[in-house]
Amino acid sequence: MAVRDKAPQGLSKAVPALEPVPVPGCSVCESAHADRDPARAEGRILTALSCNGVIAGHPHQMEGAK
Ligand SMILES: [Zn+2]
Repeated sequence: MAVRDKAPQGLSKAVPALEPVPVPGCSVCESAHADRDPARAEGRILTALSCNGVIAGHPHQMEGAK
C-alpha cells in the first residue's frame, strides 16, 4: 500500500480516473460525454480533457432542492 495520491506514470493514453461523471438528462453533459469517448479512443487526449472540463464546469440545477 505505497500508493500516493498521484496518478501512476505510464498512463499517457488513458484519461485519469478523475473524470467527471455526466449528469443524466443534461444535454450539455451528454454532448460532452458523447465526444469524450471517441476522442479518448482515438488518442485525442486534449479533446477528452476538454470534454471533462465541460462536464465539470457548468452548473446543474439540483432536482429535489425544493
Ligand atoms: Zn451537465
